[in-house]
Amino acid sequence: MAEAKALNAFDEVNVFFDKAADRLKLDDGTRQLLKKPWRELTVSVPVRMDDGSIKVFDGYRIQHNAARGPYKGGTRYHPHADINEIRALASLMTWKTAVVNIPFGGGKGGIQCDPRTMSENELNRMTRRYTNNIHHLIGVNRDIPAPDMGTNSQTMAWMMDAYGALAGYTPGIVTGKPIELGGSVGRDAAPGRGAVYVMNEAAKDIGLTVEGARVAIQGFGQVGSWAARVSHDMGCKIVAVSDVQGGIYNPNGLDIPKLIEHLAEERTIVGFPGADLVSNTELLELDCEVLIPAAIEGVVHKDNADRIKAKLVVEAANHPVTPEGDNILNNRGIYVLPDILVNAGGVVGSYFEWTQNLYQHKWDEDEVNAELHKIMTEAYRAVWEIVQRDGITFREAAFVIGVGRVAHAAKLRGFV
Ligand code: NAD
Repeated sequence: MAEAKALNAFDEVNVFFDKAADRLKLDDGTRQLLKKPWRELTVSVPVRMDDGSIKVFDGYRIQHNAARGPYKGGTRYHPHADINEIRALASLMTWKTAVVNIPFGGGKGGIQCDPRTMSENELNRMTRRYTNNIHHLIGVNRDIPAPDMGTNSQTMAWMMDAYGALAGYTPGIVTGKPIELGGSVGRDAAPGRGAVYVMNEAAKDIGLTVEGARVAIQGFGQVGSWAARVSHDMGCKIVAVSDVQGGIYNPNGLDIPKLIEHLAEERTIVGFPGADLVSNTELLELDCEVLIPAAIEGVVHKDNADRIKAKLVVEAANHPVTPEGDNILNNRGIYVLPDILVNAGGVVGSYFEWTQNLYQHKWDEDEVNAELHKIMTEAYRAVWEIVQRDGITFREAAFVIGVGRVAHAAKLRGFV
C-alpha cells in the first residue's frame, strides 16, 4: 500500500478549515473560494552580500482573502518560510482577523533566508529589494505588512522607507514600526499581552488558578518574552523558557525582569545563572500547568503529544500543534487555546497603529491596552459560548466563528 503523503503546513491549516466548513455546511463553491489564496506573488530577491557576492533569495507575498477588509499579515524571514508555510500563515490571518472581528482580511509575506547569519546591511538591502518587488501589490487600503518571526520594527522602518521612495510618505503602509516613525505604543507587547488576556479568561472557565500557575514558554522573542513578562507580573511562575539555542529551567520560577536584562546583554537566554539547561524538546514535556509555544510551527505532534503534561496549551505561535497532535491533546482532556484567537493581539495592535496613522493621531498606552483587553476578551467570550453550545474544542469553535464571518462577508459582497 502506498505510504500516506505528509501534509504540508497549508494542508494542515486546511484540516481545521474543512472541519469548520462541514459544521457550517458551506457549499462547494464557497469552500473553494475561502480555502485558496486569492492572489500569490513569488519574487526573486537578489542581494549583494558584504563579501561582494550576489545571493538570490525566494520571497513571497500571499493575499489570502479580503472579503472583510484589506489584506493584513506579517513578514517572516526564516529558513522554513517556503510558499506553503506562507500560504498557511496567510490563511490563519484571514480566520484570525475575523475571530477578533477587526476590519481586515488575511495575507502574509516572507523571505526564505536565515537572518541570524546576515549582517544589518545585508538585511537592509534585502528588505528594500523585497519591498520594491512587492510594492505594486501592497497599499494602505489594499495590503498592509507587519513584522513576524525574524523581522522587527527596524525591518518595518526599511519597508516604509522603500515604499515611500516610490509612493511618497505613507506611514500606514506597514505596522509594527518604531514609535518615532508612526508606530503605536503597546504594539510590541500586544501579541504576548493578548495571549495572556485570553489565558486568564479561559483559566476562569476551566478552573485553573493563574496565581502561582507554572508556565513553560518555548521561544523568547517578541511574543514569548512579552507573554513571560505579562504573565509573570500577573503572578504566574515561569518555570522554563527557551530560544533557538536551547532552554533554561528552574522549578521555583525564573526572575523574568533579570532574564530580560541578561538577554539584552548576551543575545541569548542560555547561560542565565540559577537555572538548569533543557532542550527545546524537553521544555515541551515539562511538569507545568500551562505550556505556551511561542516560536515555530509543528512542535507538538503525533510523536510527543502523549507526553505533554500541561493542562492548558496556549498557542502564541502560529500552528505550533499539528492536527494529529491536536487530536491526541483533545483526547487526553488537555485544553488547547488556538493561535487564531490567542496571538490575534498582534494584529489588533496593528489595527490600532494603522488607525492612528490614517487619522494622524496618537493614543497612549493605557488606551491601547484597555482596547486590546476589550477586543481579546470579547473574542474569547464568543468562542467560549460556542464551545459550550456545541460541545466542541476551543479551536473548532474559533474556526466556526472565523470561517462563518468570512463566508458571510463573501456572500454579502456577491462573490458567491
Ligand atoms: P521572534 O523572531 O521575535 O522570536 C522567535 C523566538 O523563537 C526567538 O526566541 C527564537 O530564538 C526562537 N526560535 C526560533 N527558532 C526556534 C526553534 N527551532 N526552536 C525553538 N525556538 C526557536 O518571533 P516572534 O515575532 O516572537 O514570533 C513567534 C511566533 O509568534 C511565530 O509563530 C509568529 O508567527 C507568531 N506571531 C507573531 C506576532 C508578532 O507580531 N510578532 C503576532 C502573532 C503571532
